Amino acid sequence: MNRQISLLTMLLAANLTANLPAGAANKAPQSIQEVPFTQVHLTDGFWAPRIEVNRTVSIPSAFRECEKNGRFDNFALAAKNNGCYQTDIKEHQGDFSFDDTDPYKVIEGASYALAAKYDAKLDHYLDSVINLIALAQEPDGYLTTCVTNKCYRLSGWWGRSKWEKINSHELYNSGHLIESAVAHYRATGKRSFLNVAIKNADLVCKTFGPGEGQIHRPGGHPIIEMALCKLYKVTGNKTYLEGAKYFVDETGRCTDGHAPSMYSQDHMPILTQDEIVGHAVRAGYLYSGVADVAALTGDRAYQQALERIWQNMSSKKLFVTGGIGSRAQGEGFGPNYELNSHTAYCETCAAIANVYWNYRMFLATGESKYIDVCERALYNNVLSGVSLSGDRFFYDNPLESDGEHERQRWFGCACCPGNVTRFVASVPGYMYARQGSDIYVNLYAQGKATIGKVELEQQTEYPWDGKVRIKVSKGGGKFAIKLRLPGWLKTSPVGNDLYTYADKAKPYSVSVNGQSFYPENRDYITLSRSWKKGDVIELDFPMEVRRIVANDNAEDLRGKVALERGPVVYCLEAADQPDRYVFNKYILNTVPVSARFESALLGGVMVLEGQAKQVEQSGEVSDVKFRAIPYCTWNNRGAQPMEVWIAATPLATRLAPLTTLASQAQTFANRGPIQNDAPETAPVDSWAGGTNDQWEPKRSSDTSKPYHYWWLKRGTQEAISYKWQEPQEVSNVQVYWLDFDHYDGDFRVPESWALYYQTDDDQWREVEDHEAYTVRKDCYNSVSFRTVKTKGLKIVAKLQQGQSGGVLEWKVNGKD
Ligand SMILES: [Zn+2]
Repeated sequence: MNRQISLLTMLLAANLTANLPAGAANKAPQSIQEVPFTQVHLTDGFWAPRIEVNRTVSIPSAFRECEKNGRFDNFALAAKNNGCYQTDIKEHQGDFSFDDTDPYKVIEGASYALAAKYDAKLDHYLDSVINLIALAQEPDGYLTTCVTNKCYRLSGWWGRSKWEKINSHELYNSGHLIESAVAHYRATGKRSFLNVAIKNADLVCKTFGPGEGQIHRPGGHPIIEMALCKLYKVTGNKTYLEGAKYFVDETGRCTDGHAPSMYSQDHMPILTQDEIVGHAVRAGYLYSGVADVAALTGDRAYQQALERIWQNMSSKKLFVTGGIGSRAQGEGFGPNYELNSHTAYCETCAAIANVYWNYRMFLATGESKYIDVCERALYNNVLSGVSLSGDRFFYDNPLESDGEHERQRWFGCACCPGNVTRFVASVPGYMYARQGSDIYVNLYAQGKATIGKVELEQQTEYPWDGKVRIKVSKGGGKFAIKLRLPGWLKTSPVGNDLYTYADKAKPYSVSVNGQSFYPENRDYITLSRSWKKGDVIELDFPMEVRRIVANDNAEDLRGKVALERGPVVYCLEAADQPDRYVFNKYILNTVPVSARFESALLGGVMVLEGQAKQVEQSGEVSDVKFRAIPYCTWNNRGAQPMEVWIAATPLATRLAPLTTLASQAQTFANRGPIQNDAPETAPVDSWAGGTNDQWEPKRSSDTSKPYHYWWLKRGTQEAISYKWQEPQEVSNVQVYWLDFDHYDGDFRVPESWALYYQTDDDQWREVEDHEAYTVRKDCYNSVSFRTVKTKGLKIVAKLQQGQSGGVLEWKVNGKD
């Protein structure tokens, strides 16, 4: 295994030199290389148990879900359609053209797990599924099962023939196939899966490119760029690097006449982009691929573009948990400073993509701010994506909840669970890096690492304690050890004014063999000397509770504070508060907050405690104790209210909601279309929510709290209803319409609407003697009508031509 990796490293180094301009080879500084996860063995109390749960629970459970949900059956059916497999399976299963990527991701995770700890049963299982995948591949190398299986039910994705639609995800499937196959090859040395990937990559590079007879189009959903770079590193075949570079260059050009798309960052060429927009996972994967191409070709222009885009992301669109993507609509970015806690999307995959991208930015520059973002995402948003038990997953990771969020075992669109399995297994690979014989220590965790001929041993309780002891346990020589000074010890977490610490960090100290050292470098503490076996570095990073405040432009975070200790962001969860509620509390800046390790809680966590003020329903303020837990461990004790950003003043608090007619109702919406001539018959058969939670909208574009919207519906009739167990006397409704701009379709107040009530014989009839159904923006539209006694109310709205719409809040009133 070690021999393989060093061969690969040499191969890569040879290729890098080959790509440098003539004469530059001697002058250019050596590139920074990753230290593979297989060289880093963690024995800490934080990551090691999580990696073990990933190996023993998450990976097997994800494979079971793949089996249960027909993911492997789809390969079997494709193999049958290729004429090389016998099976009774007749129907292609699943709802997405990218369902093939679920098994690919879990195989990747399983490969990493195998490399870290050999397991014969798992090795054989992988052999069997890889064999099936190989049989599903068409003779020319093509591999997307829904297309091979001619599943026209999914034609909306892929069309009627291969490579017909840019959003078909065929190249996304190829990308994950390659990533997975490279991991399997590196872990086992077997070429079985790698050969499948090579055959597919050859077809991709033949089909797409600038030449005549080739398709001129970018990847659609990126990852093919990163994947082809990885395949190039393993095989040394330059065609793959050229292919990756082609997909990067083609982005935003629209050569084949397809419409530009902000959604997939295909709105302008990469070199002219300076703001991060669109689908967050696509953005993270695309810019990771661009960084790979930049590194392998030495092209500075790409790197400069990436630095501009990164500046925008990190200073205006990064959540304090390291997450990205503020909106559910289009699963992506909103405007600058849209950092709403409750409706934050922060997809687990997007946080992983953010680590990929930032790690590559570090490799390109050696700057610690990129690792600051990695560390923030790792300890917070990424880990929130999986339960402590390892078998439940979050898709979106909001920073605030009314208790409506709960992890699930699997999803129809199952991108996140598979991604977690492959990512958590690879975490040790982000700890160290090397540049020539110099060593970067980027992340701190107890364990051993073999870096060239040197072995380093870390002893630490990180992330619960900032004392780190690093011993040179093998080897030695003249080189530098660069110790990252974490962002959480500075004046701002990622070196800009998006977030700043409201308090001052205490000074840290460093010593070598007991002698204190006062470093000048603010990002890395560089210890350059002749190292010998037994040398000991001691870092003492004071791990105090720190208060973070956000830039005033982030409206939702005004008057609030986030608590952090080391790299861990904290939250208040209802279960830990005396009144089982969180939003009615505020924490004064002057109040001390203490930390205490609770070994019996949530697998053993450091909790924060102190005195909060609580606003009672009467308006009086009382003193209460509060307890905060690490954000990454929320929702492991049932669904309940939670907040990361805590009020620092009474104005930013919110009282517990009252019992109202609306709050007692269950909310439903229509799933299917509504007949134009009979809107009262609109079926309301689908669960909905967000309109009766009593968060008061500030304006029609206020999407900071839950609301109901009709995504991708334009100009149609849409319905939403309240249903009660018992009949209620009602005579007035107040409706606050949604109205905001989105790159993927705007939301406007409706053209018109009407209100219906449910009759005793379960028919719907329009209310009588009603006032005008108004569609005013930025206020409630109040409509009184003749009192009815009913078990249901239903709004049917006709959306404006070409526009979508929604409801922020809907109140119901009885006779006063
Ligand atoms: Zn996902």
